[in-house]
Amino acid sequence: MTNIDINKMLSAYDKKNLTIATVCSHSSLQIFNGARKEGFSTLGISIGERKKIFDAFPLGKPDEFFTVESYEDIIKYADELREKNVIIIPHGSFVEYLGAKNFLTLNLPTFGNRNVLIWESDRVKEKQWLKSSGIAMPRQIKNPKEINSPVIVKYHGAKGGKGFFIAKTYKEFLQRVEKNKPYFIQEFVMGTRYYLHYFYSPIQENAYRLKRGSLQLLSMDRRDETTIDEVQRLGSIAELEEIGIHPTFVVTGNIPIVMRESLLPQVFKMGEAVVEKSIELFGGVIGSFCLETVVTEDLEFKVFEISARIVAGTNPYIAGSPYSELIQPDLSTGRRIAQEIKYANKKNVLHKILS
Ligand code: AMP
Repeated sequence: MTNIDINKMLSAYDKKNLTIATVCSHSSLQIFNGARKEGFSTLGISIGERKKIFDAFPLGKPDEFFTVESYEDIIKYADELREKNVIIIPHGSFVEYLGAKNFLTLNLPTFGNRNVLIWESDRVKEKQWLKSSGIAMPRQIKNPKEINSPVIVKYHGAKGGKGFFIAKTYKEFLQRVEKNKPYFIQEFVMGTRYYLHYFYSPIQENAYRLKRGSLQLLSMDRRDETTIDEVQRLGSIAELEEIGIHPTFVVTGNIPIVMRESLLPQVFKMGEAVVEKSIELFGGVIGSFCLETVVTEDLEFKVFEISARIVAGTNPYIAGSPYSELIQPDLSTGRRIAQEIKYANKKNVLHKILS
């Protein structure tokens, strides 16, 4: 658990002049654009020089840049940032590069419940959370000698799928594995991938109702991963593997997608289960989260990962998605985050959505 006293931090804040801040990367263009639409001032923490890029996107540019040399420097400047009444919006790169441990102790009001990091950054705990929510996950293979169908081998803490590989036999596994790195082996689920972008509000009850608060489905995407997603232009994976070319899973972009409407009940059921269990385990996953799924030919979802903050897959939807358009026109995840902060501030319950 974090030792941050959010109420104490907020008591020193000028609530009429809150500033939405994040690191200039990942989904920051969308976050700044959404905050701007909701009338907030914005601050971009820039690791080195980034202004030139943001100048090219006037509507996605923060009002102010706060340039530091490294992610660790953000910790050093926390006092200065608090004086600017900043509320930090965590995103994937922010948490990944600052490190979960540092992020937990960062002395700045942060959107969402930081305790989720304890459950999400540890594969064993993540599995415990999802499994106890009744979510179907890919089978885990504990002993590589038992590989008798396609598996995906993942390294702990690997960024963006780097180094992951597919093996169909124990022999293939031995040929590829880097034994000095901690790994784990999962059934490679055959099907189509959907990355589902949810938003849970513990303080508003105007969407899919949960025991406390409500849940929205804002959008979904499919990741574009090099080289696996286009390698077949050169030949079948089996053919290529024979000549030593192995597909990789490095995320390079995101593709918008919608799913058959008849699958939506399952989507909400999974989102509901994950949120209700999170409330029990650590006080709740608040705001944006993403379930990374594969839908099998029997139309069953298998969830291989959860991401407990805004994911880059929401970036195609700065002007709304086919789902968020049905909630409010022009609603991105970044804008939804800003709305939640605005609403909580108005109702004087910021402590319920920040940590
Ligand atoms: P991850 O880092 O767990 O998100 O995995 C990186 C990528 O590997 C995913 O985006 C999927 O394309 C693929 N992947 C991960 N786990 C599985 C699985 N169990 N079955 C099939 N594909 C997977």
